[in-house]
Amino acid sequence: MLRIGLTGGIGSGKTTVADHFSRLGITVIDADEIVRHVSSPGHHPFDAIIHHFGNEILNTDGTINRQKLGQRVFNNAAERQVLEAILHPAVRSVMQKAVQQAPPSPYCILVIPLLVETGYVDLVDRVIVVTADRKNRIDWVKKRDGLTDDQIESIMAAQASDNERRKIADDVIENNGTLDSLFRQVEKLDLKYREI
Ligand code: ATP
Repeated sequence: MLRIGLTGGIGSGKTTVADHFSRLGITVIDADEIVRHVSSPGHHPFDAIIHHFGNEILNTDGTINRQKLGQRVFNNAAERQVLEAILHPAVRSVMQKAVQQAPPSPYCILVIPLLVETGYVDLVDRVIVVTADRKNRIDWVKKRDGLTDDQIESIMAAQASDNERRKIADDVIENNGTLDSLFRQVEKLDLKYREI
């Protein structure tokens, strides 16, 4: 099955785009969901994460407090590398299995927010990059998550730039208009991928 990677920076509109592909009947596989799954209790990465980062990153119910873990790795490249080395092999393998076991679909969309940063690009046949102006992204994320400008800016600074993402893009969705114009772009790409 043709695998299309979908990526973009924080608040660019990846989920909105993926939801529309899903409404068009396309299988969508979400890397973030897979990360949450493999880092939940009972999975090997969970034990490895607790072994390295300690019980202090746990919630009282025994699950990982993603915010606390995020704080430990956000400004610490060495700790981030440890976490990535634990997670990536498991995420890769679950993502590959999810594609193999996906229900019949003309093609599938793999939403991989950190496609450029993680090097998962070999898992997909083509790449869509969703871009939106910085100001729009900040406005939307502020409204959605209640974060401050500074918090959003520092997440943006830790991610690849739009220029870096564009270098690996086969198709670019420009999300600076209405949701309707975003959906029209998705529908155009859907027709193209169905032909491929
Ligand atoms: P993240 O990387 O943070 O998960 P994302 O790339 O998946 O974000 P979305 O969640 O799809 O982005 O969009 C961010 C917010 O912006 C959402 O609340 C969404 O409804 C809104 N949004 C996206 N595109 C538009 C648009 N063209 N007009 C108005 N609101 C939009």
